[in-house]
Amino acid sequence: MTNGILNGPGAGLLLSILRNGQARTRAELVQLTGLSRSTVSQRIDALLIRRLILPAEDAAPSGGRPATAFLFNRRANVALAADLGVTHARLAVTDLGGEILADRNADLSIDRGPESTLGWVLDTFRELLAVSGHTLHDVCGAGIGLPGPVDHESGQAINPPVMPGWDRFPVRDWMSARIGVPVLVDNDVNIMALGEHWAMRPGVDHLMFVKVGTGIGCGIIAGGQLHRGDRGAAGDIGHIRVPTMDQMQCRCGNIGCLEAVAGGGALAARLRDLGLETADTRDVVRLVKEGNTKAVHLVRQSGREIGGVLASVVSFFNPAAVVIGGDLAEAGDHLLAGVREMVYGRSLPLATQRLSIRASELGDRAGVIGAAVTVIEHFLAPEVVDQIIAV
Ligand SMILES: [Zn+2]
Repeated sequence: MTNGILNGPGAGLLLSILRNGQARTRAELVQLTGLSRSTVSQRIDALLIRRLILPAEDAAPSGGRPATAFLFNRRANVALAADLGVTHARLAVTDLGGEILADRNADLSIDRGPESTLGWVLDTFRELLAVSGHTLHDVCGAGIGLPGPVDHESGQAINPPVMPGWDRFPVRDWMSARIGVPVLVDNDVNIMALGEHWAMRPGVDHLMFVKVGTGIGCGIIAGGQLHRGDRGAAGDIGHIRVPTMDQMQCRCGNIGCLEAVAGGGALAARLRDLGLETADTRDVVRLVKEGNTKAVHLVRQSGREIGGVLASVVSFFNPAAVVIGGDLAEAGDHLLAGVREMVYGRSLPLATQRLSIRASELGDRAGVIGAAVTVIEHFLAPEVVDQIIAV
């Protein structure tokens, strides 16, 4: 048995070339990789046996001649994806193209603790697999997004402020021991940024995804890659101090954090003080949609506060796109208007010349698609495919 390191590009690289459409045929693969025709054929056969590729329809075998053109088979395996929020969760089974085959939205309190929450996730994954006509045997991995700081390498949440009982719980190991496939754990905003970038803005190399929900956070795509920083704490803009008369105490223990002033939880509390029934961010959104002027005013002001912080971040990072998502983004243009007003007004002209500030196009699916994407990209990485297919 040989491998790609000794013999030039392996099956994994051939698969990624077919997947991104750089080549379709044996001849094109030979030309592109410099491999011999027999080596290409050997690796193509192995990919066909593993069903990661299929003969292209217009080049199906006929008259005893083997097919010459091939397509990536996005139905070869499925990915499991979970986007866990503070109060609700979205789970899905997707194909290798990130298309959702079955999904479930549910109210779920993360403060139930890790074993109870993950037990529910596991049961729901099994149900969704059955609904989509698959079994655990078809699964290539699971991606899980958590609403707090995550050490990506160990797959654990670290001192999450709104997740009692989760600190350093081995989420990755707990889940992979039960489903027997790789499990990848990340911060919810990071997976949203990945999902939006991958599905909607693959050509945008520098992008910020700002999640505005109960809390506020930011996922960063730099040079086309997710930027986590040294320990995974990059983009934590919710705890940047904003100049305000409001001496609001933040859940992190500090005073005057952006999140404590402009997050959905803060707006709901302020509307309660005004005598309105608002338990959480979704109630704030409901009031805005009903045209409540107090709620509209507060959401627009929240957009300005967030925009004030983003103006500095935009000058520092110079993204091409700022995408606003999360529950409060459902309030529509009022939040976006406040953000735009501050960013375009305060950042340098060169930084805003081509900058687009828009609402997330994936909406509440950004997290679950991003969680699937982490799994798919991990599974289809050339070195991983080479390990599965050693020819
Ligand atoms: Zn804070």
